[in-house]
Amino acid sequence: MQELTHYINGEHVKGTSGRFSDVFNPATGEVQAKCPLASKEEMDKAVAVAAAAQPAWAATNPQRRARVLMKLVSLLNRDMDKLAEALSREHGKTLPDAAGDVQRGLEVVEYCIAAPQMLKGEFTDSAGPGIDMYSMRQPLGVTAGITPFNFPAMIPMWMFAPAIACGNAFILKPSERAPSVPLMLAELFEEAGLPKGILQVVNGDKEAVDAILYDDTIQSVGFVGSTPIAEYIYGTGCAQGKRVQCFGGAKNHMIIMPDADLDQAADALVGAGYGAAGERCMAISVAVPVGEETADKLIEKLIPRVEALKVGPYTAGTDVDYGPVVTAAAKSNIEALVQTGIDQGAKLVVDGRDFSLQGYEEGFFVGAHLFDNVTPDMDIYKKEIFGPVLSTVRAQTYEEAIGLAMDHEYGNGTAIYTRDGDTARDFANRINIGMVGINVPIPVPLAYHTFGGWKKSAFGDLNQHGPDAFKFYTRTKTITARWPSGIKEGGEFSIPVME
Ligand code: NAD
Repeated sequence: MQELTHYINGEHVKGTSGRFSDVFNPATGEVQAKCPLASKEEMDKAVAVAAAAQPAWAATNPQRRARVLMKLVSLLNRDMDKLAEALSREHGKTLPDAAGDVQRGLEVVEYCIAAPQMLKGEFTDSAGPGIDMYSMRQPLGVTAGITPFNFPAMIPMWMFAPAIACGNAFILKPSERAPSVPLMLAELFEEAGLPKGILQVVNGDKEAVDAILYDDTIQSVGFVGSTPIAEYIYGTGCAQGKRVQCFGGAKNHMIIMPDADLDQAADALVGAGYGAAGERCMAISVAVPVGEETADKLIEKLIPRVEALKVGPYTAGTDVDYGPVVTAAAKSNIEALVQTGIDQGAKLVVDGRDFSLQGYEEGFFVGAHLFDNVTPDMDIYKKEIFGPVLSTVRAQTYEEAIGLAMDHEYGNGTAIYTRDGDTARDFANRINIGMVGINVPIPVPLAYHTFGGWKKSAFGDLNQHGPDAFKFYTRTKTITARWPSGIKEGGEFSIPVME
């Protein structure tokens, strides 16, 4: 049995707490590795190493720092297949999906090569007699991030690329359910020329997270995961005086207007609802057709498409649409929610409950489910299922449809399918959700825009990547400077008054 490590000060280090968690191959159900769960003492060691290494990195010319990121991009491309394979083996997603996970992280590394430009300050010449005023963006020092299982490559890179480009040291606490790829990323970054101690990976659970939250040296915490944990980390981290941004769960609605191209909408729903077994925070989990006729036609188009989905292990290559879910516990949770949906009166029009795959009976596979006649009071509507289950809520009018999405507690992403520009424009303007697609089912912004939801899907006021990341990982200092010639001119600095 493979025993995974932490990555501290440029070395793979064995866990010393004596606590481990199982890492599964979700396709076979076998435990394939043990992940060490760090104690506070182990976290403290990583923090001390980071604090010692960070000042020299902060003092490194930003262009030199950017060159290390440039090199990392080429190494990520070199090792793309290896990373994708390791990721699929632990997470279960298909190989193309796993490569996409690496690719979307790589794009943020690429974007962060712009650090020298993004970090330039502002300058006011002659703010007073002989007086100049300027601002600079300085790194925070030691920063940390806590990431979920569902994007083991992309989300760590969304955090550590900007943090490190800005001159910080970064401690990553990845998901204990998918820890291998983050360790590989740390090794690659050092191969690219990153000094030891600037990116460290400390594996663990709540104990490691609490060690981060209560550490006095760590200046900021980024979190992506479920909403209850996001709320805990945001509340605790802020109370400790840290800069915190937390991104939580989702329940993304897609509204299908009567004038939409229903074949396009059905194809989009199948990709966005069932891709990666629904384990995406931007997955569409609620379809809202407007009008009974639209709903009937949509359901008719969805049923054969959902029934045709191919579920299997990543080793089957492109023959598979989606793989297993991450753990047996995740599978049971999905199955229990499906049963609740049936008990509460929703109509299960595609029933994936009896799904089983020959040769993979112990794997965590879940068949595709499609519900019709879901109502807002049902648990399957209110809760995030995070599985291959799409719920259809029939709305009679556009107002009713947009109202549903607006009233839901989550506000990560949403989409509308329509040919009508007025409706699309109204939807984009009024909706209280952070990322909106118009005839685009999964509107994930590219690296140079920012990613973030509203309502219970995000806590904190800055988004991930894009220009916000440079703000989150730096703080502004403003300097007012007067030189002797200004003093000689008799200039006293005072706030200008109306003349
Ligand atoms: P999770 O909340 O269970 O775990 C996330 C991280 O928190 C992990 O590193 C885990 O070790 C840690 N953690 C778990 N329990 C903890 C506790 N009690 N105290 C402190 N730390 C704890 O989430 P997950 O199951 O790994 O990921 C799926 C969730 O993440 C879904 O809700 C999904 O919507 C969300 N997600 C959100 C986004 C986004 O950008 N909004 C992106 C991806 C995933």
